[in-house]
Amino acid sequence: MNAVLHVDLDALGRNITVVRDRVAPAELMLVVKDDAYGHGVERIVARASADGVTWFGAFDLATALRVRAVAGETARVFVWMLAGADDIRTALRAHLDIGIGDADLLREVAAAATDLGRTARAHLKVDTGLHRNGIRPEEWGGAVAEVAAYRASGALELVGVWSHIAEASDAEDDESRRVYERALDDVAAAGLPRPLRHLAASAASSARGDFRYDLVRVGAFCYGIRPDGGPSESVLGIEPIATLEASVLRVAGAEVVVGVGALDGLPSTLGGKIDVGTPGGARRMLRVGDTEAVVASWPLAAPGQRVTIYGQGARSATDLAETIGTIGEEIAVRISPIVPRRYR
Ligand SMILES: *Cc1c(COP(=O)(O)O)cnc(C)c1O
Repeated sequence: MNAVLHVDLDALGRNITVVRDRVAPAELMLVVKDDAYGHGVERIVARASADGVTWFGAFDLATALRVRAVAGETARVFVWMLAGADDIRTALRAHLDIGIGDADLLREVAAAATDLGRTARAHLKVDTGLHRNGIRPEEWGGAVAEVAAYRASGALELVGVWSHIAEASDAEDDESRRVYERALDDVAAAGLPRPLRHLAASAASSARGDFRYDLVRVGAFCYGIRPDGGPSESVLGIEPIATLEASVLRVAGAEVVVGVGALDGLPSTLGGKIDVGTPGGARRMLRVGDTEAVVASWPLAAPGQRVTIYGQGARSATDLAETIGTIGEEIAVRISPIVPRRYR
């Protein structure tokens, strides 16, 4: 196996600029879950910080702490998957912004903050229809009343009110937004200061101005990953930042064997379905084995030549994903940690 994932940090910077310009005056929260979608948290966060990004969406505590270590104390790091008292205390000590999607967690965070003598930065999540996590609308009023009480005692400050939407159909998203608006009304009616509002991820933040509010949580578009079935990269103004390359191991008649396979995270179901970039032009990738892939030959094919599986100058991760019924993010996050990342 000789695959390498090249990550173009200048392309990341350009995508971030495009996203920020589009959503302004809303701010960008760069989502860096799953090791920054497989691109490597440390280098992605370092570059984004240098470019002025101040909000990061980490998902889990381990990722959040990696972000904090790179981005420093002034960065805002949002974590929305905390499990257990130890995680909560660690999150409070690290001044993380904590997403709270159920009443039990709300109580646990408030109790731990009181214990530590800290004020939690809470972002209360309302379930606007995805039913993944989030306080149900019928329980929202009670949760807001609790928040007001915890705020009065200094246990927490209500920094944000947020939700996550499907971004699959406009009608469904509109309904989610109505639920979200009612939740915001309840917060105002409880006399709480207006929180930061964040609802949209990549697709809605780009296509739907009224979904941007104060902050948008964007991952995919910053990494140059377009939505499946959606507009092209050029329409969106984004470009892939990652390029998966491997080199030729040997040439066997009409077939060329390349050093990338399923153990590198390349789905074997891509075999026979995609064209890859070769020195002789686009060629079909015929099969994907565990450690090697077989590509249709080209004139003068020779060991050591580079083949581009996806990314800059080749098909995109989403192009690949669409041939096997998944999404571009899935291709990106599946690339194994054993594949070296090289930054340029
Ligand atoms: C992953 C995620 C995002 C970012 O989604 P993209 O489509 O990659 O921009 C935003 N918010 C939440 C809660 C997420 O889990």
